[in-house]
Amino acid sequence: MILDRFRLDGQVALVTGGTRGIGLAIAKALGEAGARVVISARSRAADAEKSLSSAGIACEFIAADLAEEGAADHLVRETVSRTGKLEILVNNAGAAIHGDSGTFSDKTWREIMSLNVDAVFRGCRAALAPMRRQGGGVILNIGSMSGIVSNIPQNQVAYNSSKAAVHMMTKSLASELAADNIRVNALAPGYIETDMSRGGIANPDWFPIWRSMTPMGRVGQPEEVAGCALFLCSLASSYVTGEVLVVDGGYTTR
Ligand code: NDP
Repeated sequence: MILDRFRLDGQVALVTGGTRGIGLAIAKALGEAGARVVISARSRAADAEKSLSSAGIACEFIAADLAEEGAADHLVRETVSRTGKLEILVNNAGAAIHGDSGTFSDKTWREIMSLNVDAVFRGCRAALAPMRRQGGGVILNIGSMSGIVSNIPQNQVAYNSSKAAVHMMTKSLASELAADNIRVNALAPGYIETDMSRGGIANPDWFPIWRSMTPMGRVGQPEEVAGCALFLCSLASSYVTGEVLVVDGGYTTR
């Protein structure tokens, strides 16, 4: 049955930034498909754990500030030491800081790059040993349509650059790791209603532009990204690697 290929029974999935927004929706989708889910963020979110557990999902939390060197390696090691394995890694945690390029500080640039790029690479690198040991695995990186187009009206040079790096990292790793039976894909969401985008949605100078640039005329919901994540994390996509799947209501068609 084709639906069986979406099942993840018995697998372990680590979702960074899994306490809210897109990460929580992905954790829920993978858990509903049968995975044991480890979620991570800087601060514990009892609500997230409760909502996963009450949906019957085996879930645990590991704290990590992924902007710190060594944190992603530690997180992956700790996950494997608690669960004994790691079939799925979702590098979802990310941050956006806007600003004009002429005054964009080195500190803010590094802040974005250390979380959105360095931690993603470190997480992928740390997952290789356990995935190779168990004969394969799946990595899903969360990029953005901002890694493909320079969306307007807000200026966000560091964010856009970081997400383009995530997309190319995904393709490079996919090529390198296919021989190890490790698939690496990315999602490139458009505007999705979460804490990250709420300020922009409420901004009367921004939101009408966001909406008019989006053929579907609305923002997306985290669950609309989570379905695509389940596809890419499961055997349903067993011949897909190095793909950046755009989930943007058509924004990048214009
Ligand atoms: P949210 O801001 O809603 O959630 C971010 C999650 O990441 C939280 O769980 C947060 O928890 C965690 N996080 C933030 N900073 C760190 C850190 N330094 N170390 C560890 N965890 C951290 O974001 P979204 O759900 O909107 O975004 C998720 C991903 O999707 C990001 O990579 C984002 O760039 C991408 N994306 C989002 C879009 C959108 O419109 N929302 C569009 C395109 C891409 P805590 O703060 O407790 O650490």
